[in-house]
Amino acid sequence: MCFLVDSHCHLASLTLEGKGPKSIAEVMARARACGVTHMLSVACTIEDYAKMMQVIAPFDGIYNACGIHPLNLEEAGAWTEEQLAACLTDEKCIALGETGLDFFYAAETREAQLDSFARQIDLANELKKPLIIHARAAHHDTVALMREHNARDCGGVMHCFCDEVEMARECLDLGFFISFSGIATFRAADNVREVLKYVPLDRMMVETDCPYLAPVPVRGVDNEPAFVRYTLEYIADFKGISPKELAKATSANFEQCFKVKLSTPSDENILQKDISTYKLEKIYNKGWPY
Ligand SMILES: [Zn+2]
Ligand SMILES: [Zn+2]
Repeated sequence: MCFLVDSHCHLASLTLEGKGPKSIAEVMARARACGVTHMLSVACTIEDYAKMMQVIAPFDGIYNACGIHPLNLEEAGAWTEEQLAACLTDEKCIALGETGLDFFYAAETREAQLDSFARQIDLANELKKPLIIHARAAHHDTVALMREHNARDCGGVMHCFCDEVEMARECLDLGFFISFSGIATFRAADNVREVLKYVPLDRMMVETDCPYLAPVPVRGVDNEPAFVRYTLEYIADFKGISPKELAKATSANFEQCFKVKLSTPSDENILQKDISTYKLEKIYNKGWPY
């Protein structure tokens, strides 16, 4: 298995918020051309979920997840467990999230965030769905709620991890996986690289979190799943292993975390080629990204 998974992306936001109307079919074709055969597209409210499902419906290899994002509480309104549970019945819906705490951008909604996160951990446990957790400037509260509400039972992933080693250790101890985004490639992100050194190969994933956070060397453009290759190559180099080895590990971790078996790509070439033989630059030169 040498294909690659983008373990966290927002495909609906990519189509709707891009600088120009990006065709999702083109985005998917570019991802495939870079060996990115599978992805997990995440919705941040129940309303978003319905829109996202329409966008991704025609394509293979896309899993989905739904949660109430800590920065979308206002637009999410008074959601109920029944509504969220209904979204999670889709056969390709493999996780509850993203949920979590963000006191960096919205310290003022602290109490509402704590309540929403706690309810979603409880629901994940009830439905036996892994959690996708977003945590920003909220180390201690996040871990405290995870412990108090037994997040260990459902497990899941700390997505776009950008906190310190201590928090990574606590999350690993709770059985969670750690997913790294393009932030790992940013010059100023020494703390994330400390975490990269610490997290073992069998507990990490890679993601774009697109359309945000495009990695170096395409920082500043709209991010998309193909670019997870840059993050993969950066991290593989940093860890002193081959991109193929890291792709294999992160795919296996994705399968383990979300209890899925990744389908074998129908294009046999993808299986035979080394991941690094898919040339990003070849596509890049065709006037992309824009
Ligand atoms: Zn997030
Ligand atoms: Zn996200």
